[in-house]
Amino acid sequence: MKPYISIVIPVYNESKNLKQLFDRLTTTLDKIGKTYEIIFTNDGSKDNSGEILEGFYKLRPEQIRIIDFSRNFGQHMAVMAGFELSKGDIIVTLDSDLQNPPEEIPKLLALAEKGHDLVSGIRLHERKDNWFRRNISILVNKVRALITNINMTDHGCMLRAYSRNVIDLMIASNETTIFIPALAYTYATNPTEIKVDHEARATGVSKYKLYDLIRLNFDLMTGYSLVPLQVFTIMGLSIAFLSIIFVIFLFIRRIIVGPEVQGVFTLFAILFFLVGIMLMGLGIMGEYIGRIYKEVRHRPRFAIKKVLGAQLDEKNTHIRY
Ligand code: UDP
Ligand code: MG
Repeated sequence: MKPYISIVIPVYNESKNLKQLFDRLTTTLDKIGKTYEIIFTNDGSKDNSGEILEGFYKLRPEQIRIIDFSRNFGQHMAVMAGFELSKGDIIVTLDSDLQNPPEEIPKLLALAEKGHDLVSGIRLHERKDNWFRRNISILVNKVRALITNINMTDHGCMLRAYSRNVIDLMIASNETTIFIPALAYTYATNPTEIKVDHEARATGVSKYKLYDLIRLNFDLMTGYSLVPLQVFTIMGLSIAFLSIIFVIFLFIRRIIVGPEVQGVFTLFAILFFLVGIMLMGLGIMGEYIGRIYKEVRHRPRFAIKKVLGAQLDEKNTHIRY
């Protein structure tokens, strides 16, 4: 039977948080009184999260679906797999570490039912992350706002509600390097935002290491904007223009004053600076090319070991055993 609401939750080593999440989530959803399904994607957890999830399935086999990945494919792929399996009219995502309180879901649903095809939570008040994460995230939000035309306040919050239509378009986009909130935004016609509560991670530590964060944020920048490349074109043009003026100046100076020997180190400093910029430009080009390469290989985006509580159908084109 087709449920009205689909909840999609990625799980990676969250064994200590799952029980509380399940209780609070089912209590909230039961109170709403609409039909629902909860799709957990076990993203290759190394602890016993998988067994705990199976336990939930046994408790409520009509409502719980479990996707078991063959290894860790990352949060965004885990959510994408959940989307592919989902059948609800309204789809809600949240994290499994209890940073997004399930009690906030009715707020999102109310807005979705008013016709908003994307409802994004924003963690404005009392965001409970450490200083470093908070400030990196504020900085990335600013850069993203500057270089992409995605007009959202907080792309890091996964507590969101989507309409079926937006989800279907996201599934059809079929990309390997995706950043779900940004992708949703490109398809939404009537998006809105709402402040939601944000708690500190209940137990465990963030699954994102510094390197993952950098990679994910590059996915966001390169996936939705060509501005980083254009900055280098413009910078290259300006530097070339300035060099011509400099050459002309040196030439005239040579005729009038004679050749210049001093100031070699200044020249080195300028040169090293330019080499640094060039390397950075190459790096940014590489970020795009690497992603193009990943895309053209057409590899399945993730591999699934098993699914509980649902049948895979033709729609689930990326789901392979
Ligand atoms: N997650 C996942 N796969 C990963 C990393 C994270 O499914 O490779 C899940 C994780 O279990 C959590 C959510 O994605 O439910 C957000 O991860 P985390 O809390 O570590 O990120 P943060 O809140 O620090 O941005
Ligand atoms: Mg978290």
